[in-house]
Amino acid sequence: MSEAAENVAAQPAEGSIIDTRYWHALDDGRVQCDVCPRACKLRDGQRGLCFVRGAEAGRIKLFSYGRSSGFCVDPIEKKPLNHFLPGTSVLSFGTAGCNLACKFCQNWDMSKSREMDTLADSAGPEDLAQAAERLGCASIAFTYNDPVVFMEYAIDAAQAGRARGIKSVAVTAGYMCAEPRAEFYRHMDAANVDLKAFTERFYYKICGGALAPVLETLEYLKRETNVWFEITTLLIPGENDSDGELDQMTLWIVENLGPDVPLHFTAFHPDYKLRDKPHTPHATLIRAYDIARSCGLKHVYVGNVDDALRSSTYCAGCGERLIERTRYTISDSKIDHGGACVQCGAALTGVFDGAPGHWGTRRVPVRLGGFLSR
Ligand code: SF4
Repeated sequence: MSEAAENVAAQPAEGSIIDTRYWHALDDGRVQCDVCPRACKLRDGQRGLCFVRGAEAGRIKLFSYGRSSGFCVDPIEKKPLNHFLPGTSVLSFGTAGCNLACKFCQNWDMSKSREMDTLADSAGPEDLAQAAERLGCASIAFTYNDPVVFMEYAIDAAQAGRARGIKSVAVTAGYMCAEPRAEFYRHMDAANVDLKAFTERFYYKICGGALAPVLETLEYLKRETNVWFEITTLLIPGENDSDGELDQMTLWIVENLGPDVPLHFTAFHPDYKLRDKPHTPHATLIRAYDIARSCGLKHVYVGNVDDALRSSTYCAGCGERLIERTRYTISDSKIDHGGACVQCGAALTGVFDGAPGHWGTRRVPVRLGGFLSR
């Protein structure tokens, strides 16, 4: 048994500070968190970069268990996931804190929050599962900030969801160490992994992280799990959108993950600490789309723009438009209940359970406390 595995997590209670499992003691009296490659080395009273994990009483604790920055019912396509129970709704929630420091973060008010009052809403794992069921959601998504930093809470919520037939979705940057990663993904049904760029320079300079561990997570998901996953790359003008980089990235995906993994290119808007860059032109998304298709990827999408042609899903067998989409609205579907093309019978890669749903573009904020008391 590893040092980390010997650290037994205490039984969590809603809204409490809990013990965690993945850490070890250092010779100099500090403790090191082993959840992500940042490997924060902390003395009692100090918090890690994510701020929600920190050292107390010679152990690493999670300070945000059972607390959320808010809940919302979203279309699953917003995560984005286009091949996972299309057209269904998902109960989205996040906490606070993140283990990367992306200068372009589009959720920075939550991910960079150091104020626990950001976590105004609270709900235990069973509350979340019950709410998802009552709201008619097919899944729960751990999103807004990276669930890596609140993995214990996410795992407990996923287990409670599974017991009610609700699936779990991680929206993550994939910056995680091997041992906690294996535990985390045992409980997930789907993931959208941000592949922020394909250079170590970008990860180091813009995100304060590293590319290699993210690629390891993607390879791990492909080779060692049944988790359905899709990839998202936010294209930032002049930073990660050159032909050469897009060519290398999409070739790597084809060679290492296979041509069936869906890839989403989304448009950047100036935010947080990266306000000197322009919005991503639609033409850049089209160029990236064309490069990815020419490198062999079968399912490529553009996001944050109106582009029905490149937001729809096509049959890899006969080319038929199988799911016609504009942003998050499905206007037509030509797949059977198991996800096969009704024209040629080729199976569409993904997770399907009946005909696509009709949730559409609605985004419905939910106060769980009030909802569950009714
Ligand atoms: S999860 Fe948080 S505390 Fe742990 S190593 Fe990563 S940033 Fe540091």
